[in-house]
Amino acid sequence: MDLVRTTQAFASRAALAVHHHPRRLTAAAACILLGSAVAAYGLAPMAVPDETPVATRIVTETVALSDLGDQLSALESRSLVLSSQTQTRGSDTVDSLLARLGVNDASAAAFLRKDAQARRILQGRSGKSVKANYEVGAAGITQLSSLTVRGPAASGEQAETHFTRITISRSAANKAGVEPWQITTEQTRLASQMAMANGYIRTNLFAAADEARVPDAVVMQMADIFGSDIDFRRDLRRGDQFAIVYETPTADGEPVSWAGGAGRVLAARFVNQGRTHDAMWYQDGHERGGYFAPDGQNKARSFLASPLAFSRISSSFAMRMHPIHHIRRAHLGVDYAAATGTPVRSVSDGSVEFAGRQSGYGNVVVVRHGASRSTLYAHLSRINVRQGQHISQGQTLGLVGATGWATGPHLHFEFKLDGKQVDPVKMARNSEAQSLSAASRPAFEQQVSDAQVQLAAGALPPIDTAQLARME
Ligand SMILES: [Zn+2]
Repeated sequence: MDLVRTTQAFASRAALAVHHHPRRLTAAAACILLGSAVAAYGLAPMAVPDETPVATRIVTETVALSDLGDQLSALESRSLVLSSQTQTRGSDTVDSLLARLGVNDASAAAFLRKDAQARRILQGRSGKSVKANYEVGAAGITQLSSLTVRGPAASGEQAETHFTRITISRSAANKAGVEPWQITTEQTRLASQMAMANGYIRTNLFAAADEARVPDAVVMQMADIFGSDIDFRRDLRRGDQFAIVYETPTADGEPVSWAGGAGRVLAARFVNQGRTHDAMWYQDGHERGGYFAPDGQNKARSFLASPLAFSRISSSFAMRMHPIHHIRRAHLGVDYAAATGTPVRSVSDGSVEFAGRQSGYGNVVVVRHGASRSTLYAHLSRINVRQGQHISQGQTLGLVGATGWATGPHLHFEFKLDGKQVDPVKMARNSEAQSLSAASRPAFEQQVSDAQVQLAAGALPPIDTAQLARME
């Protein structure tokens, strides 16, 4: 329990530091990667707590055990103060909520049912955190002392920055005719904590992320950040590894689940097939915030590595990678096994050169990106664009299907440079990126020089598949 509290103290100090020094954040974030080689998940200590260490003294003496029966009856006569915690569910009633908390208190239940403020606990979004303090008296009767509920702020300006805290407590004066319960509702600012996680991929990225307790929203951000470096559907391999530092919103020191569970990724490293990719969030007076490689190149490039977004559902497909046999046609291009209906996105800005049916390709879209480059998306079950239409990177062109010469639902993707097929991932990695402006350079360089060393030190050591197998 003390350990938990200490961790929270660390974390809230970290959050405070984050708040006051946003520009130094990335360097700080990278620092956290240092010394985290073993921990799968940890909160980020950014400042040394100022508590003086607790003095300990060891006393050795002989203790005579009294009769157990006496102890038990003594326990029975004294009430125990306990606390319990849960989250609200969509199907909850007052009774089911209290039952999960281990509280059986008719007066509390009646108040929760009738009071307008209290009724809000079970209204709106589920997943609110509920903490009860209660006493267990003789004969196991429970009496609620207080109930604290933390949930999303009332909609409006504070929806993103605040949370609602409802506190119900038993009044001191418990006279007849006086309501024994007091209730308050407050809007309080969310804090943010830094979280750090790292892991190896054994089966798929989401499994590794689950193990490291990384929310899906953070995994998706990471896939976006490296979206021009790695085709997350096809390129991930056993033994790949990641290290990631991200903000996580907290209400009274507890990470919240209703806000998607995650704030911004601050720094990330992904080692894919032995190749290391680093990205850091950077923002100053001269730039719009963004993710940058240590050399100052923006991670957002003109081409994405994959025409399909990464998702939890797709991660298992990617790892199976069973070949799809094309019929009657020499195969050039890249095939993605994906469920019918999966959105297909344009890997870059461009204009639709062709959208329609062609025998082998089935429903197909060809997008032209300037004079020399074009991309092709085939076997679609549905086409969402028209010939001549201008489209932007990431825009949905259509849905995965099995039209034309395809044995099952999949996306056939081609990337052509001057009419010749080329490797889409190579093209994405080498495509145009914006660099930081000269004005931003000095501040960025300073941040990176610290961060680079620490990122290297904080990453997991390389691992081979035999070592991975031994870890299982
Ligand atoms: Zn194909």
